[in-house]
Amino acid sequence: MSEFATRLIAWHKASGRHDLPWQNTTDPYRVWLSEIMLQQTQVATVMPYYRRFLERFPTLADLAAAPVEAVMPYWAGLGYYARARNLHACARAVMEQHGGCFPQDPAVIAELPGIGRSTANAIAAFCFKARVPILDGNVKRVLARCFGVEGFPGTPAVEKKMWGLAETLLPGKQVDTYIQAQMDLGATVCVRSKPRCTACPLAEICVARREDRQAELPTAKPKKKVPQRSARFLVIVDKAGRVLLEQRPASGIWGGLLSLPELAEGESSEGKALTSYGLAVDRWETLPALNHAFTHFKLELVPLLGRVEKFPPRTAEPGLHHLPINDLESAALPAPIRRLLLEAASRLD
Ligand code: SF4
Repeated sequence: MSEFATRLIAWHKASGRHDLPWQNTTDPYRVWLSEIMLQQTQVATVMPYYRRFLERFPTLADLAAAPVEAVMPYWAGLGYYARARNLHACARAVMEQHGGCFPQDPAVIAELPGIGRSTANAIAAFCFKARVPILDGNVKRVLARCFGVEGFPGTPAVEKKMWGLAETLLPGKQVDTYIQAQMDLGATVCVRSKPRCTACPLAEICVARREDRQAELPTAKPKKKVPQRSARFLVIVDKAGRVLLEQRPASGIWGGLLSLPELAEGESSEGKALTSYGLAVDRWETLPALNHAFTHFKLELVPLLGRVEKFPPRTAEPGLHHLPINDLESAALPAPIRRLLLEAASRLD
């Protein structure tokens, strides 16, 4: 038996959890229900829900016979409501496809609604003595730390590596105790932040503890690179200190707000000023760019300052405004455009 398994099994006898309501049973309905409820939810929260659920739906047949709407109140407050819908769909599938008896083969269990490979294996190990490993969030954390597995465990390559490791470590007997020990260790000792290494049976063989890397392992989900865009805006100011503003289309960013005229890709400032507003500007000054972070992208705003004598009548068309650049307090401007205009105003004579 691997040293990992030997240590865990011995630890579980002395320090594991033995009296949870879903332990000491091999009824797949009860084990399955607890496994689903425990996904993303703490034991203490699950306990009263588990009890109430079983009072109302004592058997898988009772659950399958009830309409799904009758199930939801017993889940209200647990969150992740797809779990409850899948639970109900799964009960019906077991009734219809398996004559009301939970299948024993983990691969067949994993085909039922809402049951992944790890949950299927846990049910098969606890209820039918199958020799299969589990790999839930707690186990991934313990494996990553104990064996120094690098990479975010949510990526297929790292997950595959961990399944391989989990298979290798699996003991020949007492698989149910071993699995329970892994779950308990992850929930009570090798917790996400501040693991209790001094109370851990794996401390002497743990890579993360040896290298003081508990906080780094498992590797966090990589942050998505936020796309960077750049846009050029015309700051056209007349002698009287008024700036040309344009109302944005109703849809898209800053929909319906006032903004500076924006140049399209490849469009020139001269061309835009002349064709859109009838303005001939002979000199453009590029002002320092300003950066603004949206939820899904970062925008670099590049202001191009152009000066004119006065605005022609054409710039009074609907949607166009010329407002005093030093008095834009009440104008409906997007925050970065307001910042950009403040900066531009400070540069005017
Ligand atoms: S020694 Fe610490 S980091 Fe390593 S498995 Fe135990 S609790 Fe987790």
